[in-house]
Amino acid sequence: MDAVNWHERAAALKPDGRIVIDGARRAAHNGENFDKRSPIDGRVLLPVARGREADIDAAVRSARAAFDDGRWAKKPPAVRKKILQRFAEKILAAKEELALLETLDMGKPIQYSLSVDVPAAARTIAWYAEATDKVYDEIAPTAHSALALITREPMGVVGCVVPWNYPMLMAAWKLGPALATGNSVVLKPSEKSPLTALRLAELAVEAGLPPGVFNVVPGYGHEAGEALALHMEVDAIGFTGSTRVGRRMLEYAGRSNLKRVFNELGGKSAFVVFADFADLQRAAKTIAGSMFFNQGESCNAPSRAIVHESIADEFVKLVTAEAPKYQPADPLEASTEMGALVDDGQLRTVMGYIEAGSGEGAQVVTGGRQARKDSGGYYVEPTVFDRVKPDMSIAREEIFGPVLGVLRFRDEGEAIALANGTSYGLQASVWSDNLSRAHRVSRALRAGTVHVNQYDEDDITVPFGGYKQSGNGRDKSLHALEKYTELKTTWIRIDG
Ligand code: NAD
Repeated sequence: MDAVNWHERAAALKPDGRIVIDGARRAAHNGENFDKRSPIDGRVLLPVARGREADIDAAVRSARAAFDDGRWAKKPPAVRKKILQRFAEKILAAKEELALLETLDMGKPIQYSLSVDVPAAARTIAWYAEATDKVYDEIAPTAHSALALITREPMGVVGCVVPWNYPMLMAAWKLGPALATGNSVVLKPSEKSPLTALRLAELAVEAGLPPGVFNVVPGYGHEAGEALALHMEVDAIGFTGSTRVGRRMLEYAGRSNLKRVFNELGGKSAFVVFADFADLQRAAKTIAGSMFFNQGESCNAPSRAIVHESIADEFVKLVTAEAPKYQPADPLEASTEMGALVDDGQLRTVMGYIEAGSGEGAQVVTGGRQARKDSGGYYVEPTVFDRVKPDMSIAREEIFGPVLGVLRFRDEGEAIALANGTSYGLQASVWSDNLSRAHRVSRALRAGTVHVNQYDEDDITVPFGGYKQSGNGRDKSLHALEKYTELKTTWIRIDG
């Protein structure tokens, strides 16, 4: 890697925590701020504006005015494309600053902010920019007496509420399709990671996005988030976060204007390994890499290994051997593989699950302890539990930390039942060298994405989302355009 001293860069950085409305920075309506701490060392990074109902209202009014006068929605698609392409270029040009903000804000290793988060956010915006003038509407095959046009129109004002684990990328997954289809957006980032979202709003304006089309209001969920989801002038909510809050989003819609709600929620993804899969070493390496990536704070982390009893001991040994690579270290060091959990609350949650797992009878085979306490930050060792039973809390609930549980099965039917035995359905994987089994089990798994003999593939071209309580709607791919558009039928009489 390069020889950049990220500590020096961090010390020189002057992030701005103020709201962005109408393309300009402003303090919260009542002047309030909250302290944003860095998970790396627990120190206060900066005061961030505590947006509340009045700020959300100002942002929504700005977005509504921008939508109604057509300054964005009525621009030719080719012009919208050009501006969004420039936005993507600006993101790449600000790569180091954005990566540093992301790492300081939520604790992921700088090498991954640079190599994953920033390029993926830019690619998302660029990909939807390209879609702007390439997606066609439809004409229905009706009788000769009339023409039926089936067109997609922007919703209007879209409220986006996103989590802290991939702050910039989750925002981009909403912004790309929402802006490409001509909507105006009000984004409420997580109070735990607001910094890159605020910078994105400035970069968008620099790229030529008309002021008011994309506003960002930081603040707490129960204040700014709730105000946005209840607002009568918001036409749709694109939400990514926990299943608990996703449920609330549906309630807010019911209590207000029945706005469309698209939820991308939690997961407890199964990683099913059959005894006929020869390369157990590769399977173990893959699960460790995917599980401990981003400190285990990934919605699609394969947190349940469901392994045939005849190979389980060997599999546990191989996964355990991978753990030292992921010992938590300073996220600002270029070689760090696993960084800090996002805050003290998340640290306590994860440690609580580790205690619960041990208390319920599962065996810690590696990890299980807090790490780097002296740093003042929030670090947990990569942890593997063996002998996990399906009714234990660590097998059923999303931990959102570096904690893997291994369950054992006897036959294919039991493997499928265990894999499907949660309220979630985000992702799953099956590892088998038997072609028919791989297909059979993939079909039986109730998940939005199923991986076969790998877990790493990912691309903006494919949909991402869940079955069951992992949500509805899909982020990414052309399917995401459906969430941010209304379908209109226009009948035109043709006199003969
Ligand atoms: P969270 O649900 O606590 O918060 C998400 C967002 O909702 C934040 O901006 C928060 O401020 C806001 N919020 C909280 N309470 C609210 C309320 N009462 N009203 C309105 N808004 C409110 O989730 P989190 O802890 O930030 O993120 C972790 C969760 O996100 C995990 O469950 C993870 O699986 C999920 N996630 C899902 C995906 C996906 O694509 N399916 C991707 C990333 C993360």
